[in-house]
This record gives sequence, C-alpha cells and structure tokens, in this order.
Amino acid sequence: MLSELHCLTATLKTSVTALDMDCIDGSVAKKLVATFAEIERVAAAGKTLAMARVESTGVWSTSGATSSAVWLADVTGTSIGAANDTLVIARSVESMPETNSALRNGRLSAAQATEVVRATVKDPTAEQRLLESARRDGLAGVKREAARVIASARDQQDQAAVAKRQRALRSVYFFRDDNGMECGTYRLEPTVGIVLRRRLEKDANRFFNAARRQGTRDTPNNYLADALAALFQPEATEFKGRDFKGPGIEDTQAEGTGSEVSRTVVNVEVNVVVDYEPLLRGHLLPGEKCEIPGVGPISIERARNYLLDGAFLKVLIAKGVDIRTVCHYGRTIPAELNTALRYRDPTCAIAGCERTKGLERHHVQAVAEDGQTSLFNLRRVCEHHHDLFSHHRYTLGLPDPAGKCRLIPPKPPDP
Ligand SMILES: [Zn+2]
Repeated sequence: MLSELHCLTATLKTSVTALDMDCIDGSVAKKLVATFAEIERVAAAGKTLAMARVESTGVWSTSGATSSAVWLADVTGTSIGAANDTLVIARSVESMPETNSALRNGRLSAAQATEVVRATVKDPTAEQRLLESARRDGLAGVKREAARVIASARDQQDQAAVAKRQRALRSVYFFRDDNGMECGTYRLEPTVGIVLRRRLEKDANRFFNAARRQGTRDTPNNYLADALAALFQPEATEFKGRDFKGPGIEDTQAEGTGSEVSRTVVNVEVNVVVDYEPLLRGHLLPGEKCEIPGVGPISIERARNYLLDGAFLKVLIAKGVDIRTVCHYGRTIPAELNTALRYRDPTCAIAGCERTKGLERHHVQAVAEDGQTSLFNLRRVCEHHHDLFSHHRYTLGLPDPAGKCRLIPPKPPDP
C-alpha cells in the first residue's frame, strides 16, 4: 500500500514538474484545476483517516510532541487550528458512514468535512442534509447549513443560555495607536450589531456617492469611518428634515441632490428569515430555519419579538410568504395573511369552541385603536363569538400554547 502510494506521488511530482502552462490552452487548464482539486480532496481524506489511527495508537507521542495536534501541525506544515480541524474529523468520521464514504470518494473537501462533522456531532439526523448541502451549495452553503443545525440543536437545549452568554460578551474597547489615532473595537449581540453595521454601510455608500460627485475617491473603510463619525457629529454633515428614527423605519423622503451628504433618508433594512411552522410552535426543530442573512441563526423567541415590535426588523416568512406585505395598518387582509390565519386557526380561536364553519376574522386590538392587520393581531372566531366582541364588549385573552384564547366577559357597569 505504502509503496504504491510512493509510486503515485512520484508520478504526480513528475507530471507537475513537467507542466508547461504556456503550451496549455484555457479549457485544459480548467480541467487540470478540477483534477488537482480532486487529488487534494482524496489525499486529505487519506491523511485524515490515517491520523485517526495515529491518534488512537498514540504513536505521535514518541516524537516528543506535546499533543497529537502539535505533531500533525508539525508534520503537515499547517497551523494548530487546521490540525485540530483534521482531528475533529478523524475522531468522528468512523461513526458517520456517509460522510466517511463521501470523504474517501473525494466528494468532500477537508473544509466541507469539518462543517459536516461539527454539525452532525450536535445532531446526528442532519448528516444527510449537510452532505447534500455541501454537494449542492459548496463550502459556503454547508457552512450556513451547519450553523443552522448547530443553532437548532442549541435552540432546543439552551436558547436562553446562548442569549445570556452573548449578552455577557458585549463590549467596547478604546485604545490609541502609534499614529495617535483614537481606536476601538466592539462586540455586540448579533441582532444589535447588524443594525449598526447595516446603518454604517448604508451611510458609507452615500459618502462614497457624494465623494464621487466631487471627483475624489477614498477606500470603503474610509467612508465607513465617515459614517461612524457622522453618527455623533451631526454638525459635520447637513441635516435635512428629520433625524434618524430607528432601524427598520423607512423614510420615503427623497435623497438630497447636492454634493454634501444629506442624512434625511435612513432606511436600514435587516431581515429575519424564518419558517412559518416554528414561528407558531415557538421553537426550532432540526432542519428548520430562523436566521438573519449574513449574521446567522437567531432564536424563535427573538424573531417573534421582532414581529411583535413590527417596526424594528422585518420578519420574512420563508416559503413564499412575506410578512412585509402581511404586517400593516389597515383593514384589508392580504391573501398570504389569510392563508397563514387559516393555517393557524383551523377552528374558532376561543377556548372550548371547536366550530370550523363560517369563521370570521377578528382584530384583537381594533383597527380604530391602531391595531395592526397582522398575524399576531388577528384571530379567526365563529359568528357567535365575533358577535360577542363586536356588540357585547367581550374581549379576548392571550392565546394558550395550543393557540386557544380565553373569552373575557365585559366589566359590569359602574353603579
Ligand atoms: Zn366560537
């Protein structure tokens, strides 16, 4: 086996040494890249499987290395971090037959395998889905899917602990560098940080446009710095009209046309993409999605809060239903919302009433009292119960876990 591999390596070296790129046309070069990548993947698989054995037998320790990772990093000329990634795969892949076979067949790169393994360890039922994602969407795709799997496993175990840990990690540090620049770093909870980031990116873009009109050009990071500075130095830029009102609130006023940067238009858009069923259920199951694109998974509880806040982040329901069109002030009920309502309230929403025929839509908080036409402010109720709300001053209690609401009778008139 070993001598066979030595022969192969020698052949490979000869081929690579003989490569004369000037004589190779583009389409052949393309095939060469794919071929070498496959060789790389197969070689990485062989290395990983052999490493599993090196570790289980403990032979690495005879070399004087302090750990198997140090030994591997030394032998392969990589970092300890990369060696650790290999070890994670080596230790687990035995118990993951499909990943094992994909690895041996050169269908999985080492980076992809790391993602598959670290997520499958958390949720063994996700292996197939992760492999599929690696095949279909490449490394970026399997990374996203792995983050989802891990978050959903975490979501089920300990959603609150994650939020608590993230909260505890929030920080800002200031320091001064050798150039005398005032510097700082920050760590914010993802849902807070993304709002700041999107805001700065948006403003930076406008600084860029203003600079372009004047024929100057700095780096994107320069403009981000301008945007950050402008947040706290309103006199540095010209304000036209209202101030920043808060994330997610769109201002439709037109953008200034002069060369100065007008900060009137603030349109920070952050979306939460969530599947519909977990949103109703209240927690994620494996394979379900609740995330801010570009940031990663968030808990269902947070997504629900954003939905209730209405104005904060935009919550998009995956699979075609877009809450932006669904959550608004007004009486008309869009078709998507109607579908969602029918799905959620198959029977009259009042506890103890199982009527399914002739259900009517009821605004919990009346439209006249600024009640939203949204999934969370609407319930389907039978004609009889709707009549009690409309004409007999009955009100609706909060829904129980099964989605049924208590009927609250009117207060007796003041004597
Ligand atoms: Zn009823």
